[in-house]
Amino acid sequence: MTAASISADVLAKYEPVIGLEVHVQLLTATKAFCNCANRFGAEPNTNICPVCLGLPGALPVLNEKAVEFAVLAALALNCEVRERSIFARKNYFYPDLPKGYQISQYDKPLAEHGWIEVPTANGGPKTANAGGGIAPPGTRRIGITRLHMEEDAGKSLHEGFSDSATRTYLDLNRCGTPLIEIVTDPSIHTPDEAFEYLTRLKEILLYTGVSDCNMEEGSLRCDANVSVRLKGADRLGAKTEVKNVNSFKFIRAALAYEIERQVEMIESGGRVTQETRLWNADEGRTYAMRSKEQAHDYRYFPEPDLPPLVLTREFIEQARARLPELPEARRKRMMAEYELAAQDAQTLTASREFADRFEAAAKTAKNPRRVASLIVNELGGRLKALGLEQEESPVSMAGIVLAAGLLDEGRISSKQIKQLLDVCFEKGEDFGTVYEREKPHQITDAGALEGLIDAAIAANPKLVEQYRSGKKTVAGFFVGQVMRASKGQANPALLNELVAKKLEG
Ligand code: ADP
Ligand code: MG
Ligand code: ZN
Repeated sequence: MTAASISADVLAKYEPVIGLEVHVQLLTATKAFCNCANRFGAEPNTNICPVCLGLPGALPVLNEKAVEFAVLAALALNCEVRERSIFARKNYFYPDLPKGYQISQYDKPLAEHGWIEVPTANGGPKTANAGGGIAPPGTRRIGITRLHMEEDAGKSLHEGFSDSATRTYLDLNRCGTPLIEIVTDPSIHTPDEAFEYLTRLKEILLYTGVSDCNMEEGSLRCDANVSVRLKGADRLGAKTEVKNVNSFKFIRAALAYEIERQVEMIESGGRVTQETRLWNADEGRTYAMRSKEQAHDYRYFPEPDLPPLVLTREFIEQARARLPELPEARRKRMMAEYELAAQDAQTLTASREFADRFEAAAKTAKNPRRVASLIVNELGGRLKALGLEQEESPVSMAGIVLAAGLLDEGRISSKQIKQLLDVCFEKGEDFGTVYEREKPHQITDAGALEGLIDAAIAANPKLVEQYRSGKKTVAGFFVGQVMRASKGQANPALLNELVAKKLEG
């Protein structure tokens, strides 16, 4: 999926610079400046009124809930919230924008100077940390320049392909939907970093509950700006903007493509033209859409129909107090509290609801770490193979806690757990049901196990010697051998004990 035959050496001479603009629809019941329902998927042109259509004489009234959500998001993203921000008109013509302008914010946005921590490939910060603080090792902060409030436009639906549409329909339900736009500094340097930033941004926004961030429905949309410059150069190169990319993976691919295209352009003596480009996922490449030179001058001016937005310190602090524990903090706490591996904690905190369900279960379990590992390794793989979400799992949290307990007490082997879980997924039954019915046979007869252990010992004299000269981990090999020989039916606790005894003996 490369633009051309640019070698890694040539690419390495350049530093990519990326800045992301993300629009997020807020989950308010009504629109930003009127009482129309803010709902995706309604019959076209049913949730509209003189205000969101911009009919003469209609006046906007700001939705307090939208402000609350915007402030929550800003605080969760470590932004400073302005106590006095100004709404502005952004003027342009488009068929799905009946007012002829969008209400947005311009030089006095709601919030500024935020940041998100992302993991770095090379372990250390490449640039000064945003926000003045220090990012933990292995991470760096991506600075958020601004977060402002605005309203969405309507939607044009084209029949046929966009370049040869036979008909275009307008659905104005989306006009006036409250949005926040979150703009980063030009300080992201790789497509992977952009991907990490977006993943974390979405996670944080989902935790705060201000948006469903559903990309298919357009609740979260990203424009990616990218340029390249020779390493060490102090001026930024001319950027292109890739629009209308509908997944984070595609954004990563589009950026990688664009970086190579720009380097190739410069290397062959050309110049990058500032323009907007579209990503074509089928072809894995970007296409020029319109050049920035021809772009609109939006003629921003303060919105005369809305007073400045003035927030009291109290309002902001109340919002701060309502912030939930955010993903990064929650991961760290859960790792400490339940002794989880970092990767497991990451998986378990991907959504707030799921983390809540895990923690509720973990509190009833003797060994939460075991519960976590069963969820991540055994459930995760099976769900993924079937393309199911966690909520669609036939095995409940209670089922996993039961399985973890049985494993812990050595009443069942991990091989048997795997077999039972396979049955759960085949039949769509919970673990408890399957376990009660199939109560796997266990060999708890020491004599029977000793026979198998003796055979394994006789077949591996070298390993026995190693054990006796101090390499105690070799015991695991014998346990594994006998477990296999018993078809997973050996009682693990008893087996461990007998193997140790025989090897010592
Ligand atoms: P525009 O007016 O074209 O939207 P902005 O200055 O508002 O440009 O910046 C939009 C986004 O592009 C921001 O995220 C910013 O960090 C990023 N950006 C600006 N200049 C560059 C550049 N030369 N290379 C890469 N990204 C850039
Ligand atoms: Mg832009
Ligand atoms: Zn309306």
